[in-house]
Amino acid sequence: MSALLRSKCPKCGNVQDVAGDYTCSKCNAGITLPKDGVIQIYRMGSPIGVAVGYGVYLNGNPCGHLGNTETIRIPVPYGTYTLHFTCGATRRCQDLTVEITPENRYAYVKARIKMGFWTNTIIAEACAASDMPAV
Ligand SMILES: [Zn+2]
Repeated sequence: MSALLRSKCPKCGNVQDVAGDYTCSKCNAGITLPKDGVIQIYRMGSPIGVAVGYGVYLNGNPCGHLGNTETIRIPVPYGTYTLHFTCGATRRCQDLTVEITPENRYAYVKARIKMGFWTNTIIAEACAASDMPAV
């Protein structure tokens, strides 16, 4: 698998896409990635906001951006995580909570925009590994 892992430096908050344990390019901290599980997020293609990356939030922590039809993988320790997305002016999001446990180490999430009459909403939904595009 070639997709990089999205990691946020616990020391300085710099968000980086890395292949494995790494040294932060900003503060030089040595970072060991959590090895328990992975949350994989796929942004479905959409004509709306294509030029704008989705803001990705994990339990309220900003985790960088997600481009149109892009996939990111976020390594995490076991726990419960709420995913929230924003897209430019679109702040409404149907959040998704996923649980990473020893029996369920991988979570797959699709994110898309649903057009509304007044406002658009980002929908985050759980899906199967087979729904993920090859990375
Ligand atoms: Zn850092």
